Amino acid sequence: MTANNEHVLDQKDRPLRDLRISVTDRCNFRCTYCMPAEIFGKDYPFLPKSELLSFEELERLAKLFVHTFGVEKIRLTGGEPLMRKDMPELVGKLSRIPGLRDIAMTTNGVLLPVYAEKLKKAGLKRVTISLDSLDDERFKTINGRGVSVSKVLDGIEAAKQAGLGIKINMVVQKGVNEKDILPMARYFKEKGHILRFIEFMDVGNTNEWNQKSVVTKADIIRILNEGMPIESIDPNYKGEVAKRYRYQDGSGEVGFISSVSDAFCATCNRARLSAKGELFTCLFASSGFDLRKLVRSGQSDQELVEAIGTVWRNRDDQYSLDRAQSKAAPRKKVEMSYIGG
Ligand code: SAM
Ligand code: SF4
Ligand code: SF4
Repeated sequence: MTANNEHVLDQKDRPLRDLRISVTDRCNFRCTYCMPAEIFGKDYPFLPKSELLSFEELERLAKLFVHTFGVEKIRLTGGEPLMRKDMPELVGKLSRIPGLRDIAMTTNGVLLPVYAEKLKKAGLKRVTISLDSLDDERFKTINGRGVSVSKVLDGIEAAKQAGLGIKINMVVQKGVNEKDILPMARYFKEKGHILRFIEFMDVGNTNEWNQKSVVTKADIIRILNEGMPIESIDPNYKGEVAKRYRYQDGSGEVGFISSVSDAFCATCNRARLSAKGELFTCLFASSGFDLRKLVRSGQSDQELVEAIGTVWRNRDDQYSLDRAQSKAAPRKKVEMSYIGG
């Protein structure tokens, strides 16, 4: 029997509630801000299958996170999670974990026409689909693989047909896709899907981020207000990451994930498990704790729980807050495609 760690708090009194699992470091896109093609080329050393946590290992760890730490939500991500074979099987295993309220996935959407129905049947509740532009030429350039917008729209339609909850993520970059803000807002308002604007972040080491390339939440609100005025509304729950707004005409909602201009570290209750089983306590961390090594060396559940508890208790990450106050020391960071967004 493992001890109950539901009330374990980190150094800044934050509980562990949300687990993001990256199931693969591979992707069928090469988004310029995440996996630039020049770096993630054909010789890039992606992880071999033997290095990935197996579905059984993932299930075991997920059970511990849910039963002993009180994790209520799991999000599957990557890389592109649907590049991993048999994802409905993993979703099925996770959805049978008692106490887990919500399983979601973040995906570029292209493979949803193949998998949406199977994922829904297996227990997936929601998908967040990433799309940065409705303009084909711009989108092809951003995704680095020349994939048309219609492929993602087909994925969104498949998710809808399958009955999955849908949100859309748009990363906004200065000089790249600001002009897509209004068309995207109009399109998804009409479709009835919540669009979330994400500030371009300095994740990883390869996307040549600088503060000037960020279009902030305030900038986006200004642009929206010119054509389709919005007003802020209450969060769905305490510590919700996306700030909610609704259109003043009463027809729909948008969200903002403003980790650059309005850091939310104070309420960050997320842990991230990388594809090869390292536990990260921050998106901007330099290294993670090797849980796979413990899992593969025959450690008991109790020993795993103690290790996870120690990692969480020692956590004091607040990179975005430090960045906002110019206190974030330069560091080598883990790549986004490796631990997921
Ligand atoms: N491949 C899936 C997808 O694109 O939805 C899941 C993984 S992706 C790393 C998760 C989310 O992170 C996506 O919505 C993506 O747009 C976002 N993202 C990636 N790099 C980012 C960056 N530098 N700044 C802000 N968001 C980023
Ligand atoms: Fe792939 Fe998602 Fe990264 Fe784009 S954002 S390269 S789709 S992992
Ligand atoms: Fe959480 Fe780290 Fe992001 Fe702060 S910077 S919100 S601690 S992931």
